[in-house]
Amino acid sequence: MMTSAFVQDGPRLVNSYTSNWLLKSYLERKLGSDLLASVEPELVELGQLAAGRLLEVQRADRRNEPTLTQWDAWGTRLDHIEPTPLWREAERLAVRFGLTAIPYERKEGAWSRTRQFALVYLFHPVTDVYTCPLAMTDGAARALLEANNARLIERAVPHLTSRDLAQFWTSGQWMTESTGGSDVGLSRTIAQRDAAGVWRLYGKKWFTSAATSQMALTLARPEGNGAGGSGLAMFYLETRDSQGRPNGIRVERLKDKLGTRKVPTAELSLEGTVAELVGATTHGTRSIEPMLKITRTWNSVCAAAFMQHGLALANDYARRRLVFGAMLAEQPLHGETLAELEGPGEGHREAPRPGL
Ligand SMILES: Cc1cc2nc3c(=O)[nH]c(=O)nc-3n(C[C@H](O)[C@H](O)[C@H](O)COP(=O)(O)OP(=O)(O)OC[C@H]3O[C@@H](n4cnc5c(N)ncnc54)[C@H](O)[C@@H]3O)c2cc1C
Repeated sequence: MMTSAFVQDGPRLVNSYTSNWLLKSYLERKLGSDLLASVEPELVELGQLAAGRLLEVQRADRRNEPTLTQWDAWGTRLDHIEPTPLWREAERLAVRFGLTAIPYERKEGAWSRTRQFALVYLFHPVTDVYTCPLAMTDGAARALLEANNARLIERAVPHLTSRDLAQFWTSGQWMTESTGGSDVGLSRTIAQRDAAGVWRLYGKKWFTSAATSQMALTLARPEGNGAGGSGLAMFYLETRDSQGRPNGIRVERLKDKLGTRKVPTAELSLEGTVAELVGATTHGTRSIEPMLKITRTWNSVCAAAFMQHGLALANDYARRRLVFGAMLAEQPLHGETLAELEGPGEGHREAPRPGL
């Protein structure tokens, strides 16, 4: 007699907001119940997507990677980067949930960032680092506002913080060159003013993530400036002109990275790229700092979100995997391992666990 083959169920997650008592109690305490009640429907909706449809889209997208098409069949330079379907979906959702809009709308006042990052926490683990361009987009809006450049604020910030997909832009941050990332003062990109007074950039940026962005903030050394970080200035540029042609930018290749492979990170040559000085002609590393503060905050929230997601998957498996006559979760050594992983996260809670 043939026995049917055993097939272990795939992961089944429940709503990543409602199942996360720690996040819920944290928000209740920080926002208060009235404010939480007003933002909770969107948290429940995104939590449901993250545990359901979006998780499915992510799984189906697992083997996809962005592609770079440098030329068309007739020899026209295109440098078109096509992200994967998951990234397209992630962009639509990010705009719909206002992930870069919320902190600038400031409907919740000082708690707007809390609302934003609660959503980012749910969104991040199932969107394969689409939070990278979002973090830079948020950071670019902050850096432009802090630089107080009225023209660029009016031109770019409404796009970066838009809730309309047709209007929405992402931003890159182009600093790293092959001479150095940590020691960015070694940058060799030069900014020259042409006869019409327009700044043009010449150089090579070595590690530009999310190279699909419509704009970037970048560092370059105005001709005649001294060496080091203080000789650099922060520039604003748009990657394509109004006809969709590259703005003196060649995409040399996409990085063959060990991780974050959904992120189209490129090496770019700047060959007379039209750019605009954001503020002073010096101390660009200082001017770009507000952008880095924001991206670092995104990184820390996203790291915690990944840990939580990994734990949710491990817990689900342990409750449905039978070993030696009991579920894995009931086996003391395995339970202890899961508890050890959960400990650091829960150790930070300040509110008592409901029901305990
Ligand atoms: C996935 C990914 C995406 C990225 N996206 C972008 C992007 O969008 N835009 C961008 O501009 N860059 C980007 N980068 C580049 C990144 O910012 C640089 O890799 C980073 O700044 C480090 O620079 P480096 O690689 O030149 O390393 P190095 O500067 O050569 O550093 C090598 C090692 O030396 C250590 N080190 C450096 N200085 C010191 C010191 N003074 N004392 C002790 N130790 C030191 C560093 O910690 C590191 O471990 C990205 C990198 C990665 C991996």
